Amino acid sequence: ADRLVEVVDLKLHFPVYSGVLRRQTGAVKAVDGVTFEIYEGETLGLVGESGCGKSTCGRAVLRLYEVTDGSITIEGTDIATWSPEELRRVRPKMQMVFQDPQASLNPRMTVSGIIGEPLDEHTSLSKKEKLARIYELMDAVGLNRDFAHRYPHEFSGGQRQRIGIARALALNPRFIVCDEPIAALDVSIQAQVVNLLEDLQKEFGLTYLFISHDLSMVRHIADRVAVMYLGKIVELAPRDPLYNEPKHPYTQALLSAVPEPDPNLEATTQRIILEGDVPSPANPPEGCNFCTRCPRVMEICHRIDPEFREIAPGHYAACHLHYDHDDKNAGETAP
Ligand code: SF4
Ligand code: MG
Repeated sequence: ADRLVEVVDLKLHFPVYSGVLRRQTGAVKAVDGVTFEIYEGETLGLVGESGCGKSTCGRAVLRLYEVTDGSITIEGTDIATWSPEELRRVRPKMQMVFQDPQASLNPRMTVSGIIGEPLDEHTSLSKKEKLARIYELMDAVGLNRDFAHRYPHEFSGGQRQRIGIARALALNPRFIVCDEPIAALDVSIQAQVVNLLEDLQKEFGLTYLFISHDLSMVRHIADRVAVMYLGKIVELAPRDPLYNEPKHPYTQALLSAVPEPDPNLEATTQRIILEGDVPSPANPPEGCNFCTRCPRVMEICHRIDPEFREIAPGHYAACHLHYDHDDKNAGETAP
């Protein structure tokens, strides 16, 4: 498949100011050098615990933020440094579905107003054509046309998310960042919304970056999966190798905490309990970002930030365990 999105060494550092003079005294390294690509028509899952930078990363790819460094190439064009005016031209092609449909929908607008807003901004459809398009979108996401003149508060969470999805589809996007699209919904309707997203992907040939902390859900929907920790992608692989043979100690720990779906089967991996807290992204450790908590930490890990490398076909990880270093054991005391 063709590459639709290519992100290289993307950094998003938010300045920290302090003191009476409000001098910049540091930076929160929310996204600190991530590299990945997304192929046409696939779903790339982006997983990690809250605060790891995955949402910020997704928003940065859509250029909802100024980026500090790196490139974001969409269909062959690097948009990392584009101005808001330039970005307006590509906005229709790249959309976002937000976590909290309640907060992302204007409560004073009707459903038709909400879905029609991007059409007003980017097209010159007549009133009649616009309404026809709004109905078409409502059909696509399974919303009754009679609801067009109602307001968001009249709907359930799942229906509101359908409104948000219809709005994201209005301009025929190719790429959609789904940021925890089901996290705020009742468990009973999460699967419906995920199935809808999958159906729409097939119907319209969409490409997704699917951000979630729910590893089971991502296993269901994603073709490939990237794991983020403290602003960096630590592992990226096609779904099955990632879930069956995780290479990075952080991925291994995350997966060991996912409950075995069939209680009759014995858990295949032993639960790995991580000690300590995630360090602050304003003050990440020297060397490997995971070195303060890694059960397999070595001496080199405290000194050298492991490169993100391909360790098996299509399987990338940033961990010294998987490289041959001359000095890997140089400083280790234990035999
Ligand atoms: Fe653990 Fe070292 Fe690998 Fe980092 S580089 S994950 S600290 S073994
Ligand atoms: Mg988030």
